Formats: sequence, C-alpha cells, structure tokens
Amino acid sequence: MNQVPPPAVGIDLGTTFSAVARLDDLGRPETLINAEGDKTTPSVVLVDGNEVVIGKEAVKAMATDMIAIAECAKRDLGHRMFHKQLGGRQYPPEALQGWILNKLRLDSQAQIGDYSKVVVTVPAYFDEVRRKATQDAGYIAGFEVMDIINEPTAAAVAFGFQQGYMQPDGSTPKEKKILVYDLGGGTFDVTVMQIGGREFVALATDGDVRLGGRDWDQRLVDYVAEDFIRKFSLDPREEPNTLGRLLRECEDAKRTLSARKKTTIACDYQGHSMRCDVSRDQFHQMTQDLLDRTAFTTRQTLKAANLTWDDIDRILLVGGSTRMPAVSEMLEKLSGKAPDRSVSPDEAVAHGAALHASLLLSRFAGQSPAFRIKNVNSHSLGVVATDRETKRPRTAVLIPRNTPLPCAAKRIFKTQKANQRSILVQIVEGESGSPEDCSQVGKCSVRDLPAGLPAQTPIEVRFHYAANGRLTVIVRVEGTETELKHEITRENSLSQQQLNSWREYVSQVPPTAK
Ligand code: ADP
Ligand code: MG
Repeated sequence: MNQVPPPAVGIDLGTTFSAVARLDDLGRPETLINAEGDKTTPSVVLVDGNEVVIGKEAVKAMATDMIAIAECAKRDLGHRMFHKQLGGRQYPPEALQGWILNKLRLDSQAQIGDYSKVVVTVPAYFDEVRRKATQDAGYIAGFEVMDIINEPTAAAVAFGFQQGYMQPDGSTPKEKKILVYDLGGGTFDVTVMQIGGREFVALATDGDVRLGGRDWDQRLVDYVAEDFIRKFSLDPREEPNTLGRLLRECEDAKRTLSARKKTTIACDYQGHSMRCDVSRDQFHQMTQDLLDRTAFTTRQTLKAANLTWDDIDRILLVGGSTRMPAVSEMLEKLSGKAPDRSVSPDEAVAHGAALHASLLLSRFAGQSPAFRIKNVNSHSLGVVATDRETKRPRTAVLIPRNTPLPCAAKRIFKTQKANQRSILVQIVEGESGSPEDCSQVGKCSVRDLPAGLPAQTPIEVRFHYAANGRLTVIVRVEGTETELKHEITRENSLSQQQLNSWREYVSQVPPTAK
C-alpha cells in the first residue's frame, strides 16, 4: 500500500515573529499562511482568563491588556519562569512558546492536514539549556521535534537551495564562503559558513541572545518618554497599557524610518498629549552603540574562522531588523562589499528548516540525503573544578567553542575515599573562568558506583555533543565497558511529568481567534 509521505515542515520560532514553511510537491520551500492570512505570526501571547490569544490579536491588546501579555518569551528560555506574571499566574517560558507553536500547528494543519514531525530553529548562539527548552516547547505544542537547527545555518541552506547547490543531477556551483548576519527582534546571530558541493559547513559562530530590534524600539520609547517627562513631569512608561501603546507606536515609527527620513510619534498619557518628531539621523545616533555591538561580534566571528573580508564571497542579511538602512551601511563600510538581499529576511529561516526536515524524512525512509550540514558549538563546554592554588571553583573547559560537531571529550575524576559510591559532576557552558558566570547545564550524579573501589579509582565521564548541540553523558569506571547509571538534574528545565501536564493543558486551552 502506498502511504502518503509526511510533509516536510520547518518552523522559525522567532522572538518577535514566527513562520512555518513546508516543501511543495516539487520540493521547493513555501511559507504557509496563518489563520489571519499572514506569512508571519507575532510571537505574542495574551492570557485572558480562560482564553489564550496568540499573534496579531494579542499585539492589538497591548494597548488595553498589557498586564496579561507575554512578549519575547524566547528571551526567557533557560529560566524557570517567564519574568512577568500573567493574570496572577506564572508560566514557564516553554509553555508560552508551546502555545505559540500550537497555534502555528493548528493553522498550518488546517491547510496541509495532520502532521506531527517538525524541525524547529534556534539561534546559533543558544546554549544547551535553551536548545532543550525549545525542543520541550515543541513537545508541549503536540509536535514531535525531529531536530533543531541553527537559524543562520537554516538561512544558508535556503540560500544554497536558491543558488542551485541541491540540484538532483548533483551539479553544484563553485564553493562559497558566506557570512550570515541575522538581526531579528530579540536575538543577534552571526555565522560564517562554507557552502561547497552538497555540504554546508559552519566555520565559526557568535552572537547575543539579548540584542535585537526590540532594543532599537526601546531606545525610541525612552526618547519619547524623556521628552514627555520634560514637558509634563510625567513618565508614560509607568502605566502598562500606555507603555504597550507606545511600544507599538515606536516599532511602527522604526519601520517608517527604514523607508523615510523622518517620522512623528504620538504619546498620550493622563490627559496630556504630545507629538515627537524623530529623524533617521537622530534614530541612528541613539542606537549607534547597539549597531556597534553587532559590528564587534561580526569582526570577532570572522577572526574565529581565521578569515578576512577578502575570503567572504557573500554577506547574507537575515532577520527583519536588517531592513534598517544603517545595518547594510555598517556592513558595507566594514567589509567593502554590498550585502546580499537575495533571500527573504522573514522567510529564509523557516525555508531552511523545511529543507532540513525533508532531509531527515528522506533519511528515515532510507534515501540518501540531498545535502549535509556540519555545525560548530557556540559555547565552550566545561565542568566545575577546584583551582589548585586558590582552592576556589573554576571552569575546566573540555570542548572549546567553535569545535565541529558532533564531538566528544572525556574527563577522569578520581574517587576520594575507598568504597565511595557516588560522584557529582557539575556541567556548565560558557567562556568565563568562574563557573557562576557560565550557563548551568546541570548536575550529573552517579549514585551506584560499584562497591569496594579503592580511593583514587579513575571514573571516566564522557561528554558528547550531537550535531544539533544537545549533550549526552556516559560514565564508566576507567578501563571497563559497563556504563554506569547517572542522572542529570537540570535546575531550569521542566521534568517529563511537568512537560506532559503542560502538553495536556495547552491542548485543552487552544489559542482562540478573538
Ligand atoms: P525574530 O526572528 O527575532 O522574531 P524577525 O527576523 O522576524 O525577528 O524580525 C523582527 C524584527 O524586525 C522586529 O524587531 C521588527 O520591528 C523588525 N523589522 C521588521 N521590518 C522592519 C523594517 N522595515 N525596519 C526596521 N525594522 C524592521
Ligand atoms: Mg529570526
């Protein structure tokens, strides 16, 4: 019996906007339209009593129900709870992201029928904990997340497809090195990639998970608010709905300034109203330091890849914020090359994810994949050790950042006492020598070491990063084959039981069109 193959679906779960794409019958990626008729869905959640509203309608409610609105929940992944209560209740960021994904699932299923297997994208700069949290959000939404893929890599794959690197006849254009500059609403990612034959190889990656268009909006909000304070001695940011309205106005004004040289932002609060003129030059000045941060990171990444601008064939612009003219001006000045706008900045990431989904589905079906992706890890992996001299905790790096994935490393821990039955290894990610400044992946505990081991028995702990940056750990007594049972306690992750109950809850409280 001929079974219809499942659709290859990729989801770009963005900080401010999300998008879903699938491959059409000819194998070309296409963006699916949501229930409102748009190609992108604002990643905004309104929890209104028993009703949950996602997307455009939730954005509209920012002017009236700001206290019940969650935006930029992606920025809080890796934390136990979203930073703000909604209707008196705290939600883990995975649940909010799960609701967004659930809407995307329902809207897309209405068009292409039921499916459950997806690829979800993550910023290249996401650490292990945030990667897991993204997979968990997919689970909460009722998906089976086949894989996560880095956003800049996905954009490069979409670009490669467009450029004819995945022709069925195997012919490919000449090898290219590209720099992907992805400035979205909440995160900034930069990745240097080499595309050659059917291989997409990341050479170096860096970024900032707390830098994006949203910070440019905030500068405008502060500029208007300060003007308002000067005139009326009142701060419009104090009142949540006024702030919500002002944020929307400022985001809109920012878009206008990408097209025009000046704009006017209106602000009303406590019976006073004001109009504030802003020119593009003024806007550039008040956000110059933000742009400089991206320039610095871009240069660092190029250096980490051991390349100069002469080696780079294309600079690929991804993410809505690259529409700001200052971005391409800065990159052109830095590199001496005009950036490439050939992929859609809003859709490329979802398209690349759909292409990756099709690669995985064909691999499951036993076919040979059309292309290969090789990534690097974005943060160094380490364990907490004790400094011999100072006796203070320090990070012992086992896998430095920008190592090609998959990769593994091992470390030997010695038992302190005879007949010691347990060891505890604290795993971190980050570049700081002091573990508390790193991201806490979790505590790996082994509780059933074989009885009767002498003191100083070497215990081997092996760390393995998969191609997608997820970590697994294997523990053995050195020189033996038997794997010892261990448990990784993750402070900032949901347990399987919690995930199941959120999955159940989200399916019962589906997003409504208000
Ligand atoms: P993310 O993936 O982080 O959600 P996107 O790539 O969808 O982000 O980009 C969204 C960001 O792009 C928002 O901050 C939005 O304000 C900004 N943006 C979209 N269009 C423009 C424009 N024309 N000018 C300036 N910024 C824009
Ligand atoms: Mg994005």
